[in-house]
Amino acid sequence: MDEGKFSYDVIVIGAGVSGIYQIKRLTDLGIDAIVLEGDDDLGGTWYRNRYPGARFDSESYTYGYSFSEELLDEWHWKERFSGQPENLRYLRHVADKFDLRRHMRFDARVRTMTWDDVDHRWTVQLDSGATYDARYVITSLGPLSMPTLPSYAGMDDFEGDSFHTYWWPKEPIELAGRRVGIIGTGATISSPRTARIIGGIKNRLVTRPDEISTWIATQPDKINPVIAHSRHQRINKIFFGLVFYRQ
Ligand SMILES: Cc1cc2nc3c(=O)[nH]c(=O)nc-3n(C[C@H](O)[C@H](O)[C@H](O)COP(=O)(O)OP(=O)(O)OC[C@H]3O[C@@H](n4cnc5c(N)ncnc54)[C@H](O)[C@@H]3O)c2cc1C
Repeated sequence: MDEGKFSYDVIVIGAGVSGIYQIKRLTDLGIDAIVLEGDDDLGGTWYRNRYPGARFDSESYTYGYSFSEELLDEWHWKERFSGQPENLRYLRHVADKFDLRRHMRFDARVRTMTWDDVDHRWTVQLDSGATYDARYVITSLGPLSMPTLPSYAGMDDFEGDSFHTYWWPKEPIELAGRRVGIIGTGATISSPRTARIIGGIKNRLVTRPDEISTWIATQPDKINPVIAHSRHQRINKIFFGLVFYRQ
């Protein structure tokens, strides 16, 4: 990461789904903008959450960006509720197709933002010491990009492997046959596919039995090719309808 001072019209913080959208629209308008991303790559939620079974719980097609008809037309989701690897592939495809990475700086975690009432500009300082200033700042930080760790006594003395779903390692982890404790039983761990994978583990221990999820519907795995094809034919109408509905 460069140290130094940089000036833009607009700074976008975060390169998840939202930050990618912002930079596409801003650069389309010819605005001099930059994305500052604290992580070492784009994708946000879908870059970080790589735990087994991580996937959409909305139908995949609803995640398509509607700013490009060509993009809507060329991308065919492989599953009805797409998994994390394909979701990340999609976001990388969008960034590459529209050459958006050149407007992004990675390992650029924002530490402070200060508003200057005289110049009417923001000064944004990074952990690295670099400073950026801009008239406008758009925060695309994501509501779920700050994982929570419990603070149980003795946690630091635990000698086994431990993982937070948000920081799940890039390399596959072999859990089958191992003794595994799971802390928390919310949407993440109770996603049907994750539960199925974890269900194969020997001696599963759920540490918060008071939080057992109450009811979960099964997600159909397969995309119905007839429905997918017909939806693809109507994709513009669907997306136009959504845009209209939001106004
Ligand atoms: C397992 C899971 C499944 C989900 N499924 C769905 C679904 O089916 N449908 C749906 O609509 N939503 C779903 N969501 C919600 C999902 O978070 C959003 O859909 C979307 O991906 C959020 O995008 P975002 O760009 O707003 O934020 P994020 O993806 O969180 O991106 C924020 C980015 O900002 C960066 N950042 C944060 N702070 C700083 C800082 N100080 N400096 C620099 N960079 C910073 C982060 O590193 C991150 O890359 C799901 C979330 C999870 C975790």
